Amino acid sequence: MIKDLYNTGKTVVSLEIFPPKKGQGTLESITGKLEEFSTLSPDFISVTYGAGGSTTGSTCDIATLVRQEYGIESLAHLTCLTATRDEVASTLDRLRDGGVENILALRGDYPAGTSARDYAAGDFRYARDLISFIQNRYGDAFSIGAACYPEGHPQARSLEADIENLKAKADAGADFLISQLFYDNEQFYRFQEKVAKAGISIPISAGIMPVVNVRQIHNIVTLCGATLPRKFLRIMDKYEDNPAALTEAGIMYAIDQIIDLVTSDVAGIHVYTMNRPDVAKKICANISNILKRG
Ligand code: FAD
Repeated sequence: MIKDLYNTGKTVVSLEIFPPKKGQGTLESITGKLEEFSTLSPDFISVTYGAGGSTTGSTCDIATLVRQEYGIESLAHLTCLTATRDEVASTLDRLRDGGVENILALRGDYPAGTSARDYAAGDFRYARDLISFIQNRYGDAFSIGAACYPEGHPQARSLEADIENLKAKADAGADFLISQLFYDNEQFYRFQEKVAKAGISIPISAGIMPVVNVRQIHNIVTLCGATLPRKFLRIMDKYEDNPAALTEAGIMYAIDQIIDLVTSDVAGIHVYTMNRPDVAKKICANISNILKRG
């Protein structure tokens, strides 16, 4: 189980992949990539869950494949906002029966044009409710992860309020946290300190997304509002019209972040791979000695 991986004293390295979007590839299109990702021997692979449950079947299938075919610890993301208890239980049963032992318990985003009010009477309002549900119904069958936001969740009143809510997720039974992407390590270190002060002691994996195309930068800014340091912006400005150079520089920036994080004894590194084994390979090749334990 993933919670045990954090007790080995080594930096836990994980890769995140997503199921093909409807009409943009079949399950087979991801299996070739899985083969490549597996050669990197990550500690676990996480599989995202499409907004509003749009990928339930393929998330379950891919997470099961990771475990059964490649023998790699598998983390299935699961959102709850738009689901009923019965739907969530049926997905969890399917994952458990497929040998998946780890769930990233998420609320999910409000679908376009809706807001909190539309879900007030639903079975789940927050990720914390999903964590409690999994704990109560499945006991120790799953190791539970939750999301955290070094610069605060965009809907949170403040970072402090968000950390209070994070504490509720840890208290409800989350075993580990995976962070939103960030490009300024200092933001992450400050967050870690605040989390520790709030009495949250579960391990945090740092989310790293190598920037390999200009479209991504736009998404990063509009969706999560991550701070973009000057060094990062200089790279983007200089190479925005040169995709090959941008990819190279984006990967090197990510490697630089990871080296600093590992040197600072981060519990884990979670790489948002965007289904690019080539990118993940370059990153892993450059940190293999950093990650070795003497
Ligand atoms: P929560 O922890 O429930 O928090 C949501 C907001 O509510 C926060 O602002 C929090 O401060 C606030 N809050 C919590 N409890 C309370 C309370 N009691 N009272 C008032 N406010 C409260 N989305 C997907 O659709 N699929 C994925 O696969 C996916 N994977 C992700 C992986 C990671 C590592 C991360 C960081 C995010 C991922 N997301 C995914 C996005 C996520 O669903 C959104 O960020 C969503 O808006 C919040 O989900 P959460 O689980 O963090 O919510």
